[in-house]
Amino acid sequence: MDALHNKIRSEGIVLSDQVLKVDAFLNHQIDPALMKAIGEEFARRFADAGITKIVTIEASGIAPAVMTGLYLGVPVIFARKHASLTLTENLLTASVYSFTKQTENTVAVSPRHLSKGDRVLIIDDFLANGRAAQALISIIQQAEAEVAGLGIVIEKSFQTGRAQLDEQGYRVESLARVASLEGGTVSFLPS
Ligand code: 5GP
Repeated sequence: MDALHNKIRSEGIVLSDQVLKVDAFLNHQIDPALMKAIGEEFARRFADAGITKIVTIEASGIAPAVMTGLYLGVPVIFARKHASLTLTENLLTASVYSFTKQTENTVAVSPRHLSKGDRVLIIDDFLANGRAAQALISIIQQAEAEVAGLGIVIEKSFQTGRAQLDEQGYRVESLARVASLEGGTVSFLPS
């Protein structure tokens, strides 16, 4: 996706060999036109996958997930990181180690929104070591729903998440695949 690659090149900040900061359009300030294009592209790629629900994780997955849900015409569920008084049922939960915050969190989804027979598309902003993706897969499996694929806005292909998901047989569509951040420069794989 040229628009995304260009945006990463022009507004992304390489914080280290491992971390890319995209607060200007995805993780803090959000570019709605870019999110719309991202949603359209994920919907195009998964048009024939029979998706019935989208699952993401708060907060930064929500914008691309909602746009994808709009184009696919399906509801979007975001796994919550914080316990809420309004989430009173027995929740589907999984533990996830946060790459950026370096803390372990429990994420939760109400079983009311996911059920057997759902074909679920997981959307997230970044794929690094795959902890967030594996936590969402676990939650979807607990609901006895099916993981139909994963849509990732920015994959850091030099970390372990993508290879693990490939090995598990999941379909992964990443709109930008970062080969390296070395020397402060972003280099991409074809995506
Ligand atoms: P993983 O669980 O795959 O190790 O990491 C994915 C999660 O960590 C994403 O949901 C994202 O919030 C965060 N993350 C991982 N790498 C980066 C990065 O380079 N930059 C930013 N901004 N977030 C990242």
